[in-house]
Amino acid sequence: MDSNDLRRAFREYFVERGHVPVPSASLVPHDPTLLFTVAGMVPFKPYFLGEEVPPYRRATSIQKCMRAGGKHNDLDQVGTTARHLTFFEMLGNFSFGDYFKEGAIPYAWGLVTEVLGLDPDRLWITVHTSDDEAERIWIEACGVRPERIQRLDEDNWWQMGETGPCGPCSEIYYDKGESYGAGGGPAVGSDERFLEIWNLVFMQYDRHPDGSLTPLPAPCIDTGAGLERIVPVLQGHDSVFETDLMWPLMEEAQSLTGRRYGGRFGADAGGDVGLRIMADHARATTFLLADGVVPTNEGRGYVLRRIIRRLVARAQLLGAKGPVVEPMVRMTAAVMGEAYPEVARELETIVQHAAREEERFAATLALGRPLLDAALEGGSVPGALAFKLHDTYGLPIELTMELAAERGVSVDRAGFEEAMAAQRERARQAGLGTEAVEHPVSAEVLREHGRSEFTGYEATEDEGRLL
Ligand code: ATP
Ligand code: MG
Ligand code: MG
Ligand code: MG
Repeated sequence: MDSNDLRRAFREYFVERGHVPVPSASLVPHDPTLLFTVAGMVPFKPYFLGEEVPPYRRATSIQKCMRAGGKHNDLDQVGTTARHLTFFEMLGNFSFGDYFKEGAIPYAWGLVTEVLGLDPDRLWITVHTSDDEAERIWIEACGVRPERIQRLDEDNWWQMGETGPCGPCSEIYYDKGESYGAGGGPAVGSDERFLEIWNLVFMQYDRHPDGSLTPLPAPCIDTGAGLERIVPVLQGHDSVFETDLMWPLMEEAQSLTGRRYGGRFGADAGGDVGLRIMADHARATTFLLADGVVPTNEGRGYVLRRIIRRLVARAQLLGAKGPVVEPMVRMTAAVMGEAYPEVARELETIVQHAAREEERFAATLALGRPLLDAALEGGSVPGALAFKLHDTYGLPIELTMELAAERGVSVDRAGFEEAMAAQRERARQAGLGTEAVEHPVSAEVLREHGRSEFTGYEATEDEGRLL
């Protein structure tokens, strides 16, 4: 089964069971409490809360997700684990006051064991510490052995964001085998060995800003399974990066940098981390631009800007000589354009925005790089230098920290914060906002393009497409 077969099989399975197939919503949610669509349930939030009457009681979707800001943020994980991406597709089935646990659990078990053919001996289940009912259904309706079910507290409570729909959940894990780490099941073993593949959320509450919970009008079901995580299980790969979805991008990253991918994780992963980041960030860049986000200095536009900069900086550090964003974006479109027509349709506009951002950043990075390289060579990055890289050359502090950490070099973070504070104070005294201090573009870029250009994403979003 490749990714297309899996998309089709999942959709058909739930359509046959009375679910209405709903197309993916934008990565930019209507919901003002979220930066991005972080899960399949986000577009359905008003149905869970009872604010709108759903036109169907059962739905299924394959939702584009982005976890790079707010409560669900995997940006720092990407590249270092075998299972995290910033952009991914979430397969889901939903019940709005229709079936509850007694329906959702056997549906998921049937799909995983019968349609996907996964060996039940490799599967583990977790339920919330309080959830006797879910445990009983796994045992009685699915025949799961009791010793394969473990209880977790926070890890089996799912919440959309700081506020909104939430409830206890139950998850399916796939045991990749002894060579991937400590055993004993997902509750105590290695999270790289016990791969979380599917989360079944029993939506029962609305979380309010003061932290209190009120019950939803009706118990609902929200499930989410990562397409990119299931494909490697089906194809027998070690990580999300070797599948038909990601490998063409890994190959492109290798050819642009001249590096060979070694599939290594942990302390001696070397350039493999950077290659994985390049592949992930190319998809994130492409899909954010396709949904109308453009690089700016705040909010989601700033996340996109940071992602493009990280992609470019990584590529250069790995040895890339020319532009990398355009070929990586084009390769993303080649892989994903059929499943996501907006990517194919907007490709030239996407390339234009992405390539322009790379040009701007590459120009300043070229000026800042020798300073960083010299410091890395010397074995420490002083705070004042980290600040200069941030303020003048547009190199985010997170990136400086990461690059230094990989070489075992320390960054004077306290000194950096001091320099930031001093700059903020100067901005205040000059009657300026502190936004430009937190998120500077290089002085050159500002002079060249002016500030107003970088605050345009709100207008862009309203139109729902690219400028
Ligand atoms: P993890 O514990 O591995 O970080 P999670 O508990 O944060 O995952 P959920 O919020 O439960 O994930 O999301 C539902 C499903 O979406 C997960 O079971 C997984 O299959 C998939 N998923 C979550 N985060 C990612 C990601 N960063 N990349 C790819 N798939 C993901
Ligand atoms: Mg997570
Ligand atoms: Mg988890
Ligand atoms: Mg989970």
